[in-house]
Amino acid sequence: MRRPRRRAQTDAMDLDELVFHPWVAQGPRQVPTFVGGAGSHVVDEYGRRYLDFSSQLVFANLGHQHPRIVEAIKAQADRLCTLAPSHASDVRGEAARLIVGVAPEGLGHVLFTTSGTEAIEHAVRMARLATGRPKVLAAYRSYHGSTTTSIHLTGDPRRWASDTGAAGVVHFFGPFPYRSAFGSSTPEEECERALDHLEQVILLEGPSTVAALVLESVTGSSGVIVPPPGYLRGVRELCTRHGIVYIADEVLVGFGRTGAWFAVDHDEVAPDLLAFAKGVNSGYVPLGGVLVGERIFEAFTERPYPAGLTYSGHPLACAAAVGALRAMHEERTVESAARLGNSVLGPALAKLAEGHPSVGDVRGIGALWTIELVRDRRSKEPLVPTGAAGEANAPMAAFVRACRDRDLLTLVLGNRIHVAPPLNIGDADVATGVEVIDE
Ligand code: PLP
Repeated sequence: MRRPRRRAQTDAMDLDELVFHPWVAQGPRQVPTFVGGAGSHVVDEYGRRYLDFSSQLVFANLGHQHPRIVEAIKAQADRLCTLAPSHASDVRGEAARLIVGVAPEGLGHVLFTTSGTEAIEHAVRMARLATGRPKVLAAYRSYHGSTTTSIHLTGDPRRWASDTGAAGVVHFFGPFPYRSAFGSSTPEEECERALDHLEQVILLEGPSTVAALVLESVTGSSGVIVPPPGYLRGVRELCTRHGIVYIADEVLVGFGRTGAWFAVDHDEVAPDLLAFAKGVNSGYVPLGGVLVGERIFEAFTERPYPAGLTYSGHPLACAAAVGALRAMHEERTVESAARLGNSVLGPALAKLAEGHPSVGDVRGIGALWTIELVRDRRSKEPLVPTGAAGEANAPMAAFVRACRDRDLLTLVLGNRIHVAPPLNIGDADVATGVEVIDE
């Protein structure tokens, strides 16, 4: 039987209903329809400008319509739009050269992917193949992606809906001074206890069964948790001692977000593998990848690496990376992000916290911050429970709407307001955004 035809879709809201949206319940939504952008703003169909205070999902690091990136994509589109990953490509090689040029020491090769999730999947696969070991350690309070392996590694409520417990994934507690799992009272104590705990987990799992440890160098969407100085170095030492592959997940923080090219740079640490995406080209064309160190690279010189993606290192995505990375060097974007954290955004948010009893903690680094909301500062009971949805999440949903009504786009996750503007945002725009949140 022929199905009746849907009525013609004409206005933008109707068209939005045709899209199945990730992460949210489906159905009609009261949201603006975006049609343009410039710098730190996006523009809706009526010409209304919204300040993008989260760089979308923390990826538009150079803001919107950056001319260097747009021109690079256009020039590549005129020359060669697509090419299989097995062929040598000038633009892919140039992107790899620029990426390796800013990478931590010893990470001299790039496997390209089309997303951060795929970068994590490949990093874990490489580690398992190179070591012949099955297990992978990952932190509670983490996000590593939404395919089977990566969602199982993830330690936040988003994995609950589909997590049946993956073979070989073991979670551990990382350091988190504000909500310490170890009862610590100083960051130094937290660092020491978290490293002791991790070593116990490794010893009790059996070091010879552990292929890899996957760790966000700064925890992003699960809390913006900056590890105490020395923690990443301690992790590096433990991995080296036990022959475990150290995979740094820098999908969200890599390429300047924390005020260094990579967040491991703050602790002067080089992992064995480093997963990246987002900031590599500000998300103008999907691109991710894994920076590969010598130990893993050598495991695949005699035998083939048995996996890949049709669109690995897509020429348009690599062209966007070349444009973005050149612009970041020219405009000293990484220094701007550091200044933003130390002198502009960080102090403004600390000041905001003073006036609100519901602000339990403000923490962050560079251009990545969070405001954690609580019912009570002493008990630290979250303003909405972990994993809250629907009615239980109403206060946070109301906050998002109230900001949007004031032309500000924010990213709210759980009981936290994440503030992660483009790294090149102007000081006046920072002041406006903080003022709206305050109000
Ligand atoms: N790892 C981290 C730390 C992330 O923040 C994300 C996405 O936000 C991912 C992995 C997954 O990346 P993607 O959404 O590009 O697949």
